[in-house]
Amino acid sequence: MSKQIVIFCDFDGTITEKDNIIDIMRTFVPEEQWKPIVDDIFAKKTSLRAGVYALFQLVPSVQRKEVTDFVLNQARVREGFVDFVNYCYEQNIQLLITSNGIDFFIEPILAPYAEKINKIYCNQSDFSGKNVEIIYPHPCDKHCNVDCGMCKTTIIRSYDSNRYFKVVIGDSITDLEGAKIADAVIARDYLANTCKELGIDYQAFSNFHDCIQALTTFITQTEVPQ
Ligand SMILES: [Mg+2]
Ligand SMILES: [Zn+2]
Repeated sequence: MSKQIVIFCDFDGTITEKDNIIDIMRTFVPEEQWKPIVDDIFAKKTSLRAGVYALFQLVPSVQRKEVTDFVLNQARVREGFVDFVNYCYEQNIQLLITSNGIDFFIEPILAPYAEKINKIYCNQSDFSGKNVEIIYPHPCDKHCNVDCGMCKTTIIRSYDSNRYFKVVIGDSITDLEGAKIADAVIARDYLANTCKELGIDYQAFSNFHDCIQALTTFITQTEVPQ
């Protein structure tokens, strides 16, 4: 008997080469308005939930089309992603997208792969008011006091550890708590550096062919002792 591999894959800076929220802010909001909020998120002075909410409150809802077109035009999906999606599908690996990004850009970017992605967990947006309002359908459970907004650890915990071998793929601060409770971590950038500092085992990636390579090594680790 073996455990099924389930992947919790980040979106911004992982599937896409850059962080789309930061790119939106750089393009549509004056730096003196958005930069202090982002700095506070990294300094942990404001929670991810409150920070992302505050950032999008700086964007007028009437700019919906411009903002959406901008993201869809400039976002680049990281090399190898289509092969990675196909590999997971063929190997019966569950592929979940767990993202603190927003539905209005994640869903269209992932549309070409949607059939082979098991589920997308992300935040939602409401453009009906004066400014963009972010809605959080996946809040923290009682085990998490980070105020994530979209709580990756809550989702990871909801998968039974006796049945699933849990793999986190990510790049940044929003992936760290998940990395601490995963069975395996595939990381780049801030997440890789922080895992190294904290002594959390990880495999480095720069494209999704590296991720496939890492998964082939995990498949042998998922056998459950009889
Ligand atoms: Mg990210
Ligand atoms: Zn949380």
